Amino acid sequence: MAWDFSTEPEFEQQLDWMRTFVREEIWPLETVAGGLDQAGLDRIYAPLQEQVRERGLWAAHLDPELGGQGFGQVKLGLMHEILGTSPFAPNAFGCQAPDSGNSEILALAGTPEQKEHWLEPLLAGDLKSAFSMTEPETAGSDPTQLQTRAVRDGDDYVITGHKWFTSNGSIADFLIVMAVTDPEARPHQRATMFIVPADTPGVNILRDVPTMEHPQDEFGKLGGHAEIVYDDVRIPATNRLGSEGEGFLISQQRLYPGRIHHCMRWLGVARRAFDMLCERATYRVAHGKVLGEHQTVQNWIADSAAHMQAARLMTLHAAWVMDTQGTAAARQEISLIKFYGAGVLHDVIDRALQAHGSLGYSTDLPLEAMYRFARGARFYDGPDEVHRQSVARQILRGYEPPPDEVPSEHVPTRRAAAREKFAEILVAVTAND
Ligand SMILES: Cc1cc2nc3c(=O)[nH]c(=O)nc-3n(C[C@H](O)[C@H](O)[C@H](O)COP(=O)(O)OP(=O)(O)OC[C@H]3O[C@@H](n4cnc5c(N)ncnc54)[C@H](O)[C@@H]3O)c2cc1C
Repeated sequence: MAWDFSTEPEFEQQLDWMRTFVREEIWPLETVAGGLDQAGLDRIYAPLQEQVRERGLWAAHLDPELGGQGFGQVKLGLMHEILGTSPFAPNAFGCQAPDSGNSEILALAGTPEQKEHWLEPLLAGDLKSAFSMTEPETAGSDPTQLQTRAVRDGDDYVITGHKWFTSNGSIADFLIVMAVTDPEARPHQRATMFIVPADTPGVNILRDVPTMEHPQDEFGKLGGHAEIVYDDVRIPATNRLGSEGEGFLISQQRLYPGRIHHCMRWLGVARRAFDMLCERATYRVAHGKVLGEHQTVQNWIADSAAHMQAARLMTLHAAWVMDTQGTAAARQEISLIKFYGAGVLHDVIDRALQAHGSLGYSTDLPLEAMYRFARGARFYDGPDEVHRQSVARQILRGYEPPPDEVPSEHVPTRRAAAREKFAEILVAVTAND
């Protein structure tokens, strides 16, 4: 089947508008946001979000009946490539993680009441949300080990457990919590998702964990990663999402498109770093010539351009498979781009930083922050190793051992077969000799 990632001219105009808007209205915010609290940030965002709404680009990840634009993954991917250029852009477009993924969960698994109560205000930007799955004590890369428990008690569930890295947990109005409802069930049918209002007694938000990306000890700001103890948190059974044991099924639906958007955002970051690398190559003189005339730097530029192009086409292809053949059909493509894209992101930023020397290492440029951001991409939403393993397993399903374990391409064996196949001709040719 021919691949087609093209979009209509009207949508190209929207992308052009986004490029200018993000560069002129959002990039400047990066330099002052550190001094603002969440209320201040919200005030700056309000008029920007209004412009995005007027343009018809708000919450574009959802279908029209849910208040989104129903664009599909290729268009969303192209939008995220632009939004990725600044960590502050997705929030202006109502598609910031984890709210975007959570709205997809609510759209997919929510009852009409849950949608009215949580999804609609989330999409309107009136509520903030978080997704609370990873635990410090168990391997996030193997969530079948989750220990947080949700026990049914009459019309309620009681949740007990310890989570961390719940992004935006400290500013969220509600948390979607993944908890084990049946420890005896098959591993992928043990867990269930619950909507937990953040002000429920027993939700103890201990801190935002300082990280490589945000090393300062801060609390209650967009992008923080909360450590939370759920201490006998009682919620009505009507807050359960889907049926008991459907947690993993629902989370896969959320993660697949989310990974495409991650990868396209990473390309936006990589492109910005690449532009800085190329700019530096034009003027910095070392050893008698500008960096761009040194072969190593030329290699960096060429390799970066090739890898970004490859990652972009792979990601758009994954998006196109998802749009044309459904989420499940894109499983392998999505795993491929997740680890490949994270590597490209890291390497392009690393080269740009290297080309800037001390300046790149300093906070006078955004490269050091990009570099710290890039490191996490190699393990959140599934570590590289797990995605590689998944790709290799899927590919290997298409192969089987050769008869007698003689490799199919074994030349002596093939030669013997060829002699048999062409026996008559070979005899005639030899006789002519
Ligand atoms: C910026 C950021 C935001 C996050 N946001 C959220 C959020 O909103 N909600 C949430 O619930 N979680 C969130 N997380 C947590 C994230 O999902 C986990 O860190 C991730 O799933 C890995 O789990 P872990 O940290 O427990 O590492 P582990 O599972 O302990 O894995 C550690 C390492 O083990 C190795 N490994 C694992 N499996 C294999 C394998 N099969 N083969 C070979 N090696 C392997 C890998 O090198 C891996 O990096 C976030 C993390 C970061 C960094």
